[in-house]
Amino acid sequence: MLVRGFRYKMKPDADQEVLFRQFAGVCRLVYNLALEQRRDWYRQYERETGARLNYTAQCRELTALRSAYDWIGAVSQTCQQQALRDLDRAFGHFFAGRARYPSTRKKGVNDAFRFQGREVATERLNGKWSAVRLPKIGWVKFRDTRPMRGTVKNATVVLDALGWHISFTCEIAHNAPINICPSVGADRGVVNTLVLSTGERLSVPPSLEAIERRHRAAQRVLARRKRGSTRHRRQLQRCARLAARRARIRRDWQHKAALHIAQRFGAVVVEDLKIRNMTASARGTIEEPGRGVRQKAGLNRSILNQGWFGFETLLAYKLEERGGILVTVDPAYTSQTCSACGTVDRQSRESQAVFACTECGFRAHADHNAAINILRRNTASMRMEDGHQLSDEVRTGSGLLPAENPRGSLRGRC
Ligand SMILES: [Zn+2]
Repeated sequence: MLVRGFRYKMKPDADQEVLFRQFAGVCRLVYNLALEQRRDWYRQYERETGARLNYTAQCRELTALRSAYDWIGAVSQTCQQQALRDLDRAFGHFFAGRARYPSTRKKGVNDAFRFQGREVATERLNGKWSAVRLPKIGWVKFRDTRPMRGTVKNATVVLDALGWHISFTCEIAHNAPINICPSVGADRGVVNTLVLSTGERLSVPPSLEAIERRHRAAQRVLARRKRGSTRHRRQLQRCARLAARRARIRRDWQHKAALHIAQRFGAVVVEDLKIRNMTASARGTIEEPGRGVRQKAGLNRSILNQGWFGFETLLAYKLEERGGILVTVDPAYTSQTCSACGTVDRQSRESQAVFACTECGFRAHADHNAAINILRRNTASMRMEDGHQLSDEVRTGSGLLPAENPRGSLRGRC
């Protein structure tokens, strides 16, 4: 069984938007009240009622609250129960040591509410538009950009800087096929965003760099605005919109790149980030050539560093769906090791982009060399066991392919 999310941009009319804001506001209030109750009244509640203050107890409290205030009762009860469930889960994570103490939800940051799957229905209107029926709100149009699969478990309506969106969580029945595709190593590049052991290089689209520049410029303007003024508020919205678009472009690229890899390879070997943090210092000390390269390298790194965990997650589920596997290995010295003769020498890093072995003279793209080493970390043990051989292409490391990016448009990616 697979669980997948499908997110669409909504187009509520004026009345529906008022309802959306009301729903989001009331659900936020319920969440915050429940949080306060757990924080401040916990002991008192237990003393007076003899019962633990948990999800069930708070649901009972919710019923009383709904009958006391009409405007709270006007909002769907499931949405409010889902808010309580969220809080219960947040406390669960906190007590298990996985997360920090739950914080209050804020207007403008946490504007969302969730329905259960059986409460909502969708209908296709035409090639571009569909509509979803939400309890106590009615039919709301959304831009149908990709086909949905499986059965809807729940539907969340959320507001971000780019408007209202709906995201469906679906369960899909699935049996993974047997995967016989070859293995590949992948390294987070410096000049290119992602480099595979086949020599293939994947780069983030130029539009991401453009939007990054615009976002930085907008933030500089924001710093000059007087706090609390109308112009400050508008500029803040502008920054938030740019940040949201940047996140969307990055996510889109990650989906496409991960799909591009998952479709062709059975096992993908990547560096284990937790170990990487300890060994990363050597990389930063190497002198870098031009200024433009340095800036772009910094950008590439920041983009992938920020999104690396997300990228790994996407890649892992896309591989799993196809019967493949994502393997993490210790990345120590992968960037300083020669993939031709195995010599480890920091001097071999001629520059950020070029690897030139001080022992055997082997030259390659630095990230390509690292990607081959990463792949070997996994396949070395396999070769001993069943005579598994690396392909010629990987062994020589020569003949780099020209930069190749995933297809531009992939409708219904996943
Ligand atoms: Zn060498």
